[in-house]
Amino acid sequence: MDCGILSGDHLKSASDLGLPFVAVGLLYKNGYFHQKINGYGIQETEYTNIDIRDLPIIPVKDENGEELIIYVRFPKKKIYLKVWQINVGRVKLYLLDSDIEQNSEDYRQVTLRLYGGDRETRIQQEIILGMAGVHLLQILGLKPTLYHMNEGHSSFVTVELIKDIIAEKKVSFDMAKDIVSAKTVFTTHTPVPAGNDIFDINLVEKYFKNFWPRLNLSREEFLRLGMNPKKELEPGFNMGILALKIAGKKNGVSKLHGAVSRELFSEVWPNILPAESPITHVTNGIHTCFWLAPSLKELYNKYLMPYWQENIFDENVWKKVNSIPNDKLWEVHKERKQKLIKIVQENISNRLRRSGIGAIEINEIVSGLNDNDLIIGFARRFATYKRANLIFKDLERITKILNDAKRPVKIIFAGKAHPADKEGQDLIKNIHEISMMPQFKGKVFVLEDYNIAVARHLISGVDVWLNNPRRPMEASGTSGQKAAVNGVINFSILDGWWAEGYNQKNGWAIGKSTNYESYEVQDMEDSQSIYNILENKIIPAYYNIGKNGLSEEWLTLMKNSIISTGGKFSTSRMLVDYTDKLYMPLCNLSKKYYNSLEEVASFNEWKENLYLNWNKIEISQQENIEELSIDAGSKMTVSCTVKLPNINVEDIEVETYLGKILDNGTIEKIGIIPMKLESSKEEERIYNFITEIEFKDGGNYGYTYRVMPKNKMILDAENLNLIKWITK
Ligand SMILES: *Cc1c(COP(=O)(O)O)cnc(C)c1O
Repeated sequence: MDCGILSGDHLKSASDLGLPFVAVGLLYKNGYFHQKINGYGIQETEYTNIDIRDLPIIPVKDENGEELIIYVRFPKKKIYLKVWQINVGRVKLYLLDSDIEQNSEDYRQVTLRLYGGDRETRIQQEIILGMAGVHLLQILGLKPTLYHMNEGHSSFVTVELIKDIIAEKKVSFDMAKDIVSAKTVFTTHTPVPAGNDIFDINLVEKYFKNFWPRLNLSREEFLRLGMNPKKELEPGFNMGILALKIAGKKNGVSKLHGAVSRELFSEVWPNILPAESPITHVTNGIHTCFWLAPSLKELYNKYLMPYWQENIFDENVWKKVNSIPNDKLWEVHKERKQKLIKIVQENISNRLRRSGIGAIEINEIVSGLNDNDLIIGFARRFATYKRANLIFKDLERITKILNDAKRPVKIIFAGKAHPADKEGQDLIKNIHEISMMPQFKGKVFVLEDYNIAVARHLISGVDVWLNNPRRPMEASGTSGQKAAVNGVINFSILDGWWAEGYNQKNGWAIGKSTNYESYEVQDMEDSQSIYNILENKIIPAYYNIGKNGLSEEWLTLMKNSIISTGGKFSTSRMLVDYTDKLYMPLCNLSKKYYNSLEEVASFNEWKENLYLNWNKIEISQQENIEELSIDAGSKMTVSCTVKLPNINVEDIEVETYLGKILDNGTIEKIGIIPMKLESSKEEERIYNFITEIEFKDGGNYGYTYRVMPKNKMILDAENLNLIKWITK
């Protein structure tokens, strides 16, 4: 669900920026469930067929004007797929649909639903997405320069592309794989290993045993593509690992999530330090104008520079927010609150009426909402790591906060739990029960059927957006970004995007940016932090109302929130990042070298030689200093000697790895300094390298030397999983 919204924003922005994109997905006709919450707080799911006639969707036609039907081979027989098209601005989104009469009844079900199918349905869906997806682009005559795989579900793209290159160019698997690496980007969106599908070997065998011969691979070689090199005995084919092993560029979706992913997947490159796994990050964003409330957009039209909507990612656009008069901004915000209150009242009344609660009681509850009150919103998937009920950890304390008649505070919750996630559903039940306790009636509200329409009102109609995931489990989070550009202030754990977005003037940070010793301690400290900040900062700031009826303090926070996020956390910025950091470097590399089979062949030979000889590299140092005490500002020249086997000196990079020794004895990485070749004894294959280290701070330092591979045909040397450290 979240990914669907994020990719929608991604495509809208690609269209705005005129980037040549096409997208492929599955048509989940029966895909999205409606949520009902019954009188016991139990989530009931209702799947309804979307009526295709209601969607701006058209069947793609072939050259004869017939509806385009493609197929992919499953073990028993072919599965046929109808191709649909949606235009997202200038970007075409193709959706594959197996629910057509050419298929038998069981095959018609395959693409019907996102959730709910068994493992076999899941692998069938992923074969369709990855393999039929690549096939479709060929049929349409498109020749993508790059393929961007979002999450492991689409990883079969890699093997399908490799198969095609082997067939077309008659090259080895290794050469085809290198060519595919140079045109694939993989984005991981999850901070947990279980976020990627892992398929039973039996299932992979069933669907791929006729396929791996076409890659010139044995069974074991093929299966190893989806396996952790350190745990090859573990059963299961991991779609995330497949993509990580083959994609030329890989990223997480926030700075912190990049670091978490490097550690999480470090075993894919067993020789590389976990912190240096070749996974970078691009922080997620939102399509700002899509999520901006219309009335705010009007206000921005008046006070921001002309054409600001076309220049979302321009700092100067957002600074002008300061020129909006406070009373005008508050007036618009208050209208948003009133609209939201109406929607909440309707939603809650319907729900409670259904569960048999009388009109008088319902009225008592919903009339608790008032547009003068401080309203806090919490809405997202009810996954356990999001800790929806954390604010109720100390019931006594939150009772006191919510029952201050002079400074009323209300909380609105919304969100669906995954139909198979019992714990997530229990959270909804728990919060529902709390909302019906006498001291919380009319103060805590649980909305049902959270969707984009409800989200639009929530993210622009509350005052504070609460997010308290268990750090560092929130890969990015985007709802807080939606809230921020609408002048709703974030109150969040320093996790995901907020670890980058928080600047001490644009909202509040819950807890600390560290790891806790246990979940219990983390929950305790984070909840205490929530209460303290609410009591001492948020509530006083909101109710710091002046003679003009406004809290200038609050309006300053609102403006800071808009200014600091409007551009920086937009999909415009995100796409510029993807283009600069991932798409362009890969495109350039691919165009320059990977169209030439000779280049690819010699690169492969080069790699083979490197793997054969790498362990024979010897590094030694003249001086033997383990630890240095250094004054700030001093400089030092260091050198080492490398004895190379049958490897050219141009094919390696020699580096000084510098660390600071902290008081507690741990070593903090300071930097990696490339070294220069100073002299050599060619006939003995001995080379001296040298560099100068500049120490900005004083303290105790340690350093060591290492050798990495170097070649014009690689972007990230770590991908080769080769590194040689000095050994004593
Ligand atoms: C934005 C959005 C989400 C994602 O919210 P997160 O904070 O990223 O978890 C989920 N559902 C809907 C309807 C949304 O609009």
